[in-house]
Amino acid sequence: MNVPLLDLVAQYRAIRDSVLPAVQAVIESQQFVMGPAVAQLELEIARLARAQHGIACASGTDALLLPLKALQLRPGDEVITTPFTFFATAGTIHNAGGTPVFVDIEPDTFNLDPARVAAAVTPRTRAVVPVHLYGQMAALERLLPMPARGLPIVEDAAQALGARRRVDGQWRLAGELGWVTAFSFYPSKNLGAWGDGGMMVTSDAGVAERLRKLRLHGGAKQYHHDEVGTNSRLDTLQAAVLLAKLPHLAGWSARRREHAAYYTQALAGLAPVTTPAVDGCNEHIFHQYTVRVERRDALQAHLKSKGIGTAVYYPVPLHLQNCFSHLGYKRGAFPEAERAAAEVLSLPVYPELSRDQLDYVIEAIRGFYR
Ligand SMILES: *Cc1c(COP(=O)(O)O)cnc(C)c1O
Repeated sequence: MNVPLLDLVAQYRAIRDSVLPAVQAVIESQQFVMGPAVAQLELEIARLARAQHGIACASGTDALLLPLKALQLRPGDEVITTPFTFFATAGTIHNAGGTPVFVDIEPDTFNLDPARVAAAVTPRTRAVVPVHLYGQMAALERLLPMPARGLPIVEDAAQALGARRRVDGQWRLAGELGWVTAFSFYPSKNLGAWGDGGMMVTSDAGVAERLRKLRLHGGAKQYHHDEVGTNSRLDTLQAAVLLAKLPHLAGWSARRREHAAYYTQALAGLAPVTTPAVDGCNEHIFHQYTVRVERRDALQAHLKSKGIGTAVYYPVPLHLQNCFSHLGYKRGAFPEAERAAAEVLSLPVYPELSRDQLDYVIEAIRGFYR
């Protein structure tokens, strides 16, 4: 049997009849950039995240970069984030002119530890960028004193579209509580385009207007530039694909949750494997199903030999990346992030997986530790 980490062809086969006509309609219109489907998608994603404004852009990376640029960081300005995330989270802080300041994660959820964030704030701190890693929201309510102290929260929700968390007895969506939230439509994300794409959502009308300008070279009126922005538009074709896929998203995330529950139950008694902890306040969307394991690299090789795809997200914490050596962090600076990087393994959890495939993965893991 073959169990890839992700099978986008299976998804495509299931939805082609609704997506292809939408793509064809864009081709017939020949409006390839920022056509009507883009505005429609902005409305739909903002509604899904319970935010007032959606601003589409070219990638999840740009959806982080543009709000950070809107902060007009000066040299030495600090932005607090996690070292255990995809590179873009910290790369965009650097590219917006700021200095990433890393803070260790909570070992159970892999998300930024709010107590450590509070301790890392200095007079130079300008923002905090929590990441909702693997599809589980960070404890945002514990970071919410930050806006009161003048520190905006930019949510990296690239992996968490539709994830939610109970705060004071109420469900809050990823994108509802932050100042600006970044989503990615990279093809492997839970809602994936047929290429790159991203979306910013916010309920701050002022920053929404600035983000709209920043993605169009800083001008609201053509050929009149208020500040220097960039070209970060979303293709109409991508918006049409995403709109056609959007009605399936909740069902897909529910299937991922079912698969996750099945794995967790089946692997519960297996000592060398620690299944993902879901914070009782969270509804996880399982962009990734990530276990901690003993002898991780050997297990990964074993699963590969059985035709099972897995991945390590992420093998090198960002404070140890060569490009950030000038920041002066040493090995040992963030023990939880470093331990996670050595132990995590993401298993296939995409919606179209069959029960037989899940059983095959479970049996292969059991076999390895037998
Ligand atoms: C995917 C991802 C991004 C970047 O999104 P792109 O669309 O690939 O640019 C940023 N942060 C996290 C946590 C991601 O997973």
